[in-house]
Amino acid sequence: MSNLVHNLDAVQQRIVQATQLAGRAPGSVSLLAVSKTFPADAVRAAHEAGQHAFGENYVQEALLKIEALADLRASLKWHFIGPLQSNKTRLVAEHFDWVHSVDRLKTAQRLSEQRPAALAPLDVCLQVNVSGEASKSGVTPAGAAALAHQVAALPRLRLRGLMAIPEAADTLSAQRLPHRQLCELFEHLRADGLALDTLSMGMSADLEAAVLEGATLVRIGTAIFGTRHHSH
Ligand SMILES: *Cc1c(COP(=O)(O)O)cnc(C)c1O
Repeated sequence: MSNLVHNLDAVQQRIVQATQLAGRAPGSVSLLAVSKTFPADAVRAAHEAGQHAFGENYVQEALLKIEALADLRASLKWHFIGPLQSNKTRLVAEHFDWVHSVDRLKTAQRLSEQRPAALAPLDVCLQVNVSGEASKSGVTPAGAAALAHQVAALPRLRLRGLMAIPEAADTLSAQRLPHRQLCELFEHLRADGLALDTLSMGMSADLEAAVLEGATLVRIGTAIFGTRHHSH
């Protein structure tokens, strides 16, 4: 078995075990393979091993991969998970299936206006700055409800849920806290009438904490593809 196939399998096992430990239904957590900085061939190999959803952070890099893998386009879902600048929204609206990093109305409006009519509405999550770190993007927890209702009303977007990148922490209980806060916000928005089904949280180092706190989608890069040697 190649490293990549072995790693994918190991990550799937971690998801299964954490799901069981949490007493959640089998299959209730899906895997987004974060392929940023890794070549199209690595995505192709992961696809051959049964992985269909991939996350990318950098628009130009992603477009080259989407182009190189055009033959697989119908069986791939491309998720944009990085910071999104206004001048890149059109390319994202045209080429991706999902965006996890919507954190202001302006960006959401542009994505909605620019989503091609021939494509299904763009699935989006709001990025929430749960840890309150000044350096992180994301709407504040206090601002999330107002933004969620505004985004949910845009015609060419489908608001699916929330995403967060909590501050790194060493212990499981410290890791669980911000994930729990995001889940509470998610449940609050659902109780408020928003039909959300996606809680995007959990990375290589805190997958278990996220699944224990209700993640429905984990975004895993390093544990699948290995250490990233360059950031871009
Ligand atoms: C890079 C990245 C990931 C994957 O992180 P790993 O620690 O490599 O698993 C997940 N989410 C976002 C938003 C990222 O930028």
